[in-house]
Amino acid sequence: MKDKLHFNSATIHGGQAPDKGYGAVMPPIYQTSTYAQTTPGGHQGFEYSRTHNPTRQALEKSLASIEAGNYGFAFGSGLAAMDAVLKLLKPGDEIISTDDLYGGSYRLFTKIFEDFGLKFHFVPMSNTAAIADAITEKTKLIWVETPTNPMMNVIDIKAVVELVQDKDIWVAVDNTFASSYIQQPLTMGADIVMHSATKYLAGHSDVVLGALVVNDAKLAERIGFIQNASGAICGPMDSFLTLRGIKTLHVRMERHCKNAATIAHFLNENSKIDKVYWPGFEFHPNHEVAKKQMYGFGGMLSFVTKGADYAAAIKIVERLKLFTLAESLGGVESLAGHPASMTHASIPKELREKSGVVDALIRLSVGIEDVRDLIADLEQAIG
Ligand SMILES: *Cc1c(COP(=O)(O)O)cnc(C)c1O
Repeated sequence: MKDKLHFNSATIHGGQAPDKGYGAVMPPIYQTSTYAQTTPGGHQGFEYSRTHNPTRQALEKSLASIEAGNYGFAFGSGLAAMDAVLKLLKPGDEIISTDDLYGGSYRLFTKIFEDFGLKFHFVPMSNTAAIADAITEKTKLIWVETPTNPMMNVIDIKAVVELVQDKDIWVAVDNTFASSYIQQPLTMGADIVMHSATKYLAGHSDVVLGALVVNDAKLAERIGFIQNASGAICGPMDSFLTLRGIKTLHVRMERHCKNAATIAHFLNENSKIDKVYWPGFEFHPNHEVAKKQMYGFGGMLSFVTKGADYAAAIKIVERLKLFTLAESLGGVESLAGHPASMTHASIPKELREKSGVVDALIRLSVGIEDVRDLIADLEQAIG
């Protein structure tokens, strides 16, 4: 019955029931590494907390529930979750991903897994034909990130899924930017959905955690094996915090979307601003795809000030008072970032600029404050 809950109930009840021990309504933090056995193997489903932990299990069920999937897995970070996906592959396998990928993902791919014999192709994935051109006999995984960070390009998930329909290729979607509220890739035919739950799912900038959700039992078994064998799990306290965050995901996301829309329009009408990247604009090149696959346009946007260079962009982010200059996104508080020197510093400048991440680009994670205060802050900082 729980499986059939609407999204706004799944966030609160998905995978959760009052605790059997004392009836605790909230899943207790089972801060234990091991579990008593009455006889060898005589336990209640929990032996050792790398393998299973009741708090983490409650979170994993919640994650599956909000992504409309069958199996959830929680990891110590978003990158640890991605690391587990890449371990499904073997030397010689090829992966196609987007050319404006999150910097940490790019680093994991090229600086770690290339050394293990995996081959990565980075293409402009909002152009489906570019993906088709990069597919070879050896392609095993297409890693989609949409909307992309920080250019807010939108990749057509269904089109990617159709591309590989008769092929032995997994489609994985990094759903961090949209969150499960706005986009559910498994319902569009993707095989794997990944989250940096550090961002919108936990939502309060107080935890680092990663997630995977899949539908296929065999794939789930393999990921579960890797999760236990490699051991990049999250602890019970972080699982608890993420569970608590997820309970308000739908109400937070509504406000994130609303505030971001207001700010996008404010910036777009401001004579000092050159470009605003936000998928809600009709003139956004992927607006139609965004309308089709997203329930709302999210809380993220980027902009470029007219005539600004590296130094001018830095000045603007330094002048912001209510927006905190910081890495990360998706918390209740508004954050500003300068991708060229922060999140995307690990991507070579030439490659970075080719995808639009110019020195003057500023990225905003719009929080859920009163939008009038946020606009006043932007006004004084842009000058
Ligand atoms: C933050 C982020 C990651 C990495 O997640 P961590 O929890 O920091 O390891 C991956 N993808 C995107 C889009 C992100 O924003």
